[in-house]
Amino acid sequence: MRRLLITVLLALALTAPGAGAAVADGFVLDRPLTGAVTRGFDTLASRYAAGHRGVDLAGRAGATVASAAAGRVYFAGSVAGVGTVSVDHGNGWRTTYQPVRATVAKGDVVGAGDPIGTLLAGHCATACLHWGLTDGVDHLDPLQYAATPTIRLLPHGAMPRTPPPLAAARVAAVGGRPVAGRITSGFGTRRHPVTGVVKLHDGVDLAAACGTPVAAPADGVVVDASFHAAYGFRVRIDHGAGLQMAYTHLPGLEVREGQRVAAGERIGRVGSTGLSTGCHLHWMAWRDGDLIDPLTLGR
Ligand SMILES: [Zn+2]
Ligand SMILES: [Zn+2]
Repeated sequence: MRRLLITVLLALALTAPGAGAAVADGFVLDRPLTGAVTRGFDTLASRYAAGHRGVDLAGRAGATVASAAAGRVYFAGSVAGVGTVSVDHGNGWRTTYQPVRATVAKGDVVGAGDPIGTLLAGHCATACLHWGLTDGVDHLDPLQYAATPTIRLLPHGAMPRTPPPLAAARVAAVGGRPVAGRITSGFGTRRHPVTGVVKLHDGVDLAAACGTPVAAPADGVVVDASFHAAYGFRVRIDHGAGLQMAYTHLPGLEVREGQRVAAGERIGRVGSTGLSTGCHLHWMAWRDGDLIDPLTLGR
């Protein structure tokens, strides 16, 4: 029953990319091989550049490798000479399998447990599978999302307790920005301060003390208020005319999905939940579903 529910959720996520559904809630992975874990995920790898960004499962060359969850094949081929299969599970979540000779092709729809390839020698002294998981932003430990037989651990960045909602309070939106702090990192390609990975910084960082009120820069409707492993507590607001904005790393949720908010209304506070080096507001914007630099909207 649980598996059915997850399949339905995944199907919804896959058919509505970018809809904001939190796949992480109830996201369960099956092991792609039955072998023992010979090397675990280096937790420090999510904090610093070096480390083992996946787990190794013992196996025999030629063993069948199965998809850990339902999804669509995102990549099947060679990465730097290593046979690789990557499966997209929706909302940016992907699992990767190496070294594998693919028996599926890009775009194929696979169910949990469906064969996706055969194990090749090479990653360990004896054959083993390097199994990775990303939420589209960072590498995560797939075993933390694994179903039986491993003990179910709390997911990376496990849901902290949410403080009770507070009464809406008006705070001034300064210069059309959600907080008045200075910009410490702009929108564009950069080296991630936590993971060390060079990629798109998908928003603007505004410096502000922990607890500083965050104000909606414009009227809107809350379309998502949820916890995300990388973004922490995130509130996404539809401001109309194809414009959406999100406010991330909040210490908790003070607004609910469907709630209308007015320009200048407090929608949360500055925090450091998710992958964050300290209190700041990571402010994101989309125009017609495409990420844009929120500063291009400022007054
Ligand atoms: Zn490995
Ligand atoms: Zn940021």
